[in-house]
Amino acid sequence: MASSSSSSAVDYSSFLSDLAKSRKENPIRGLLHLELEPGLLSLLAGKPNPTTFPITSISFKARNPLSADGLEEDEYTLSTAEVSTALQYNFVAGVVPLVEWVLKLQAFEHKRKLDPAWTVTIGSGGQDLIYKAFSALVNPGDPVLVEAPVYAGVIPIFESMGSPPIEIETDADGVDPASLRAALAAWPSDKPRPKVLYTVPYGNNPSGATTTTERRKEILALASEYNFIILEDDPYYYLYFGSAPRPPSYFSLDTEGRVLRFDSLSKVLAAGLRLAFVTGPLPIIRAMNLHTASANLQANSTTQVIAHAVLSKWGIKGLQAHTSGVSTFYRAKRDVFQKAMERHLTGLARWSVPQAGMFFWFELVLPPGGDSKELIETKAFKAGVLALPGQVFYPGGRKTSFVRASFSLLDEDQVNEALRRLAVVIREEWGG
Ligand code: PMP
Repeated sequence: MASSSSSSAVDYSSFLSDLAKSRKENPIRGLLHLELEPGLLSLLAGKPNPTTFPITSISFKARNPLSADGLEEDEYTLSTAEVSTALQYNFVAGVVPLVEWVLKLQAFEHKRKLDPAWTVTIGSGGQDLIYKAFSALVNPGDPVLVEAPVYAGVIPIFESMGSPPIEIETDADGVDPASLRAALAAWPSDKPRPKVLYTVPYGNNPSGATTTTERRKEILALASEYNFIILEDDPYYYLYFGSAPRPPSYFSLDTEGRVLRFDSLSKVLAAGLRLAFVTGPLPIIRAMNLHTASANLQANSTTQVIAHAVLSKWGIKGLQAHTSGVSTFYRAKRDVFQKAMERHLTGLARWSVPQAGMFFWFELVLPPGGDSKELIETKAFKAGVLALPGQVFYPGGRKTSFVRASFSLLDEDQVNEALRRLAVVIREEWGG
């Protein structure tokens, strides 16, 4: 059973970046909670008077995952109080009922006791929170440990900070602890040590890999031995369709407060809501909140209230029913894609089968010296297929014959046609 994080195990002040330490509280935002004092007359915030807002009600429909076929639609009409919260400024960390709901979800889902050492904050998508986490923890020029290949959306973050990425090798079982240990053990004593490891543990983007339980434990042990924090970016957690039991999250295995976990509602409720949450050590999240207070004040109140209305009506059981339906959907998509891969690309590519997420990562079998960049960007595109060459997922832009294909959207006929076209292009490389 996982125990709660103990703030004494980690000196968080040694992890915070100079920028994070220099950030000051936004003088208004820091006082907003005082407005909740009963009887207080607040002349504080520059909140617009809501009687001038033209939107007076918010109604929508959402499928009910607990209904007999899961397709029945519930009508939602937000209460007057919810509408006024939805339309007004709110707290930096998020709208209180959503924050509280998410805290309970995280405690339940990751088997962690509610404990003041860890907390949650709502953000405008995982991307927003990941950016703020890097900014809170990494000084410009500090090295960062990143799995390779890595989610292309984080590369510009550490590049813009001038922070050299230390690429840790991965395979179909996720991050390779031996590669991580080798990088850390050989670290020169006169250079700043890496303070963070960024990893996507389920249905990795781009590799599709889900890190095994054994490796997660080894990586956590290395985090303790070499004193770093794991940035567990987990937008595909609920899109796991591999065998049971699923590997536990890093956050659930963490006993020292070394994990900062990112969940996103993008793949669970809707990407356009732009909602995600970060869970982890209070001092780091507080530093991120100071960033939010000066960058964008808070995540969107309206979508937070809408998400809370849906989640609180469903309860955790409803969320489980919904996400189980979502993962079943993606498993079927994976099966279709796998069958089409076997049909069209046998002998022309190598792959391992993803157990979560929405990506197939495959290595083209090309004539010596070949790589996927030109083939995918130019030749395949001309033949009417769009995919991503593996190179964009390596910070150093290494040459690779890997390709990332998303199996989320296309139907069976379209997948077969796309892979048939790709097969023609690969055969042409062989002169056939
Ligand atoms: N991390 C990973 C690994 C992703 O694949 C994505 C979405 N492509 C994100 C973060 C950002 O997602 P969002 O901002 O929508 O939560």
